[in-house]
Amino acid sequence: MSLFDKFQPIIDIRADLAALGVMPFGAVTEKILSPTEAVVDGHKVILAGTNNYLGLTFDPECIAAAKQALDEMGTGTTGSRMANGTFIGHVQLEQELAEFFARQHAIVFSTGYAATMGMGSTLAGRGDIIVLDADSHASIYDGVRLGGAEVIRFRHNDPTDLEKRLRRLGDRIDKTLIIVEGIYSMVGDQARLAEIAEVKRKYGGMLLVDEAHSLGMLGAHGRGVAEAAGVEKDVDFIVGTFSKSLGAIGGYCVSDHPQLEAIRFAIRSYIFTASPSPSTIASTRVALRLMQERPELRQRLWDNAQRLYDGLKDLGLQVSPQVSPVVAVTIKDRNQAIAAWTHLLHHGAYVNLVMPPASPTNDSLLRCSVSAAHSTEQIDRIIAAFAALPAANTG
Ligand code: PMP
Repeated sequence: MSLFDKFQPIIDIRADLAALGVMPFGAVTEKILSPTEAVVDGHKVILAGTNNYLGLTFDPECIAAAKQALDEMGTGTTGSRMANGTFIGHVQLEQELAEFFARQHAIVFSTGYAATMGMGSTLAGRGDIIVLDADSHASIYDGVRLGGAEVIRFRHNDPTDLEKRLRRLGDRIDKTLIIVEGIYSMVGDQARLAEIAEVKRKYGGMLLVDEAHSLGMLGAHGRGVAEAAGVEKDVDFIVGTFSKSLGAIGGYCVSDHPQLEAIRFAIRSYIFTASPSPSTIASTRVALRLMQERPELRQRLWDNAQRLYDGLKDLGLQVSPQVSPVVAVTIKDRNQAIAAWTHLLHHGAYVNLVMPPASPTNDSLLRCSVSAAHSTEQIDRIIAAFAALPAANTG
């Protein structure tokens, strides 16, 4: 017996993959040619599995702002927000986020993971209850475990099941936090937030929504699913990340509850980690502005999403239930999924290979995502790469 025994399943999978000559979870991006093209493991590919939804990673204004911040403020803050790590940019970005979301309060974190995990672990602790969607992201699960609240899962995106579980709580509803996501990251389905908010209105509790994959995509201002569903008033806390539509790294939480300002000093992932670098904050601030100034990016993103979705569906592939910037193709057999992923890489399309337990079911996924920066021709090339898959790889 050893400490390593529990890793045997991972060791076995890695050995299987190595024998096949593929390393999908360690593919190295050797060169970035543009927001949508790179050289990965020696193959020139279209990037069809990033979260660069608005394609802002190479925006000249974002880059210029980051460069200027590097020159003026240095490479890093070398400290946590609570000690020496709150620079003027962090405060400005918090103001801008609060304004954008039309909320009173905002906190900037070092990553989206730190934001979601930190809020989940801090808002509800021992003696409290968290009711969460069963398909929640790992950052949500990690947070609720750390906080020590009682955790109750409801069936994925099922407001009726949520209602059943809230009803059973009785008076304990006052100490309950409900957590859902906006767009779910693996399959791209949208939370049924209007109904979820209605259940919350009926029973009580507080509601936190992780809009990591929906910022900049939905709602009149791009504030996400809560805005699109017209239920922002019912959402107590929105968390999200700068690492997807804003093309950088970092996270946030916004709320109208004034207690958020005190709560920030109880969040371990805020206190005990260094704050984002000035250059990261600078590019994020510009990206947040550009996201608002350029609604055409959102239109382009959805046009691309529709085209990829239709194209893959027309090939007879089992795609997500809903058109979304995330288009996942389900492949039941793990080895077929690995073979398909490898084939796609060799045919110029780099997608995400997702295997259980990272996928929400026992199936594997070829998770594709589109960007506003993809050209129509690139979307068609992604579809063509799928069309060229041997039938044996898509069962
Ligand atoms: N929440 C969700 C729903 C996510 O998908 C992710 C990232 N995949 C995160 C939080 C964490 O964000 P980040 O990678 O920016 O830390």
